[in-house]
Amino acid sequence: MSRRVLVLGAGHNGLVAAIHLAEHGLDVTVLEHAPRPGGASSSTAATLPGFVHDHCAAFVPMSAVSPALTELELEREGLRWVVPPLVLAHPFEDGSAIALHRDVGATVASLGRAGAGWEAAMERLLPLVGPLTRSILSPIPPGPSALRLAAGLGRDLPEWTRRMLGSVEALGLDLFDGDRRATAWLAGSAQHSGLPPSTTVSGAFGFLLQLIGHSHGWPFPRGGMGELAGALLARAERAGARIRCGATVARIETRRGRVAGVLLASGERIAADAVLSTVSAGVLVRLLPDGALPTRLDRQLRRWRYGTGAFKLDYALSAPVPWAAEEPRGAAVVHVGGELAALSAAAQAASRGEVPERPALVVGQQTLFDDTRAPAGRHTLYVYGHVPAARPEVSDEELAGRFEAQLERFAPGFRDVVLARAIRSTEQSERENPSLVGGDLAGGSYELDQQMIFRPALRLMRYRAPLRGLYVGGASTHPGGAVHGISGRAAARALLADLRLRPWRTR
Ligand SMILES: Cc1cc2nc3c(=O)[nH]c(=O)nc-3n(C[C@H](O)[C@H](O)[C@H](O)COP(=O)(O)OP(=O)(O)OC[C@H]3O[C@@H](n4cnc5c(N)ncnc54)[C@H](O)[C@@H]3O)c2cc1C
Repeated sequence: MSRRVLVLGAGHNGLVAAIHLAEHGLDVTVLEHAPRPGGASSSTAATLPGFVHDHCAAFVPMSAVSPALTELELEREGLRWVVPPLVLAHPFEDGSAIALHRDVGATVASLGRAGAGWEAAMERLLPLVGPLTRSILSPIPPGPSALRLAAGLGRDLPEWTRRMLGSVEALGLDLFDGDRRATAWLAGSAQHSGLPPSTTVSGAFGFLLQLIGHSHGWPFPRGGMGELAGALLARAERAGARIRCGATVARIETRRGRVAGVLLASGERIAADAVLSTVSAGVLVRLLPDGALPTRLDRQLRRWRYGTGAFKLDYALSAPVPWAAEEPRGAAVVHVGGELAALSAAAQAASRGEVPERPALVVGQQTLFDDTRAPAGRHTLYVYGHVPAARPEVSDEELAGRFEAQLERFAPGFRDVVLARAIRSTEQSERENPSLVGGDLAGGSYELDQQMIFRPALRLMRYRAPLRGLYVGGASTHPGGAVHGISGRAAARALLADLRLRPWRTR
């Protein structure tokens, strides 16, 4: 094989892959549909001049624990992290709230009588956060880190495995001795996965995110998520990779049973020896010629399931949000939805295809900690909630109105501080980034049968396809969505290993 590689998608996984391939001397071109790189890790000027908004990803705890990103030392490219001490707050309609602080003691105090359960869980799991996160983020099988985790848990291993496999509702009620408000606080973090609180494995998502909240915080790049993409881009270009934006791949071409190059939507053909795709599984399969993949794999990818879509609002504000409760006024993230029953009702409605009357919202207040993102004294607000991908009966305006009514419920007077608002529907998200199918933020539902070796199919678990020259990474592959770069690195390593280029050496 000669050495020309096309990377599909300039999201963070595509850029991480490009860095590894180019640093090993390959001729790398990254092809990106959007006019700018970054994919779901970028920032925009969606509202008013001087305001910077995170387009999709905003808080990136998985970046902090991912060796695929930390080893790149992006701080050398000028990237600066902001790590707020008050990670998140979960307000209730009576004006109270529970907070997740970096500090365990402060969190335990905030939980009140449920705090003892969290304290005990943190005593057991915080010392194991290294092997735990490495096990989750390793390509399969996870190897020594999983063994260290198992040894560390000892006789508690079956109990914690059972808890992690269950729903966040079950986990919370178990940890907090039936306390429903503390369970709602934990369930708020599971919302980031898109899984409803009663769904299997949602417990693992909520718990892991909050555990990392203590060990590493939920950092975000100073200046916006675009700074992370910019740092990756700078590193990739320095290594010699070319990034072409506005280059939509319409077809992956094959010849004699192997990848031969791509056809762009513009009609341009580009020959290549290998294609490394980071686009979503349901998108990738439709780029391949009929019969390119074995029938069963082709069928699995065509039936890859996407979850609910993220409906997004960005605001420019004249002042911070006037939350009724005190804790959200100082928190980087606020989970809006209130009681456990309300969170469940919103998530269940969305998964049934109905638009929730009172949507559960993930809210970001980055400017409380980063003054580079708005003019002096002004603020941004980042808001999304899960809605059905197709919802003809509710207009974008009406849905935005429901989101705002929800914000007003927990922050009376919110509308008075709004200077400007930008709405991003699920359809627009998919138009801008075809990998966000139906607005799904995870690259495919995280239900158990789409996890680990099944993400997105058994025959792709080693990041290579049974079609010579085709490699796969991105959010649809293990370990899934979020900003960690693991699958971009793993796919690049698979390609380098096939070329016998000592993939473990990063310059
Ligand atoms: C609203 C929202 C909020 C989120 N919040 C968080 C968060 O706070 N923290 C977190 O860690 N994660 C978050 N995520 C998830 C995270 O952003 C993604 O899982 C991650 O960025 C995916 O990275 P990727 O490189 O695999 O794919 P992407 O970033 O999606 O990159 C894929 C790229 O491929 C391009 N592409 C697709 N089709 C083609 C084609 N045919 N030709 C050329 N290019 C193509 C796309 O335009 C895109 O740029 C969020 C996602 C969304 C949508």
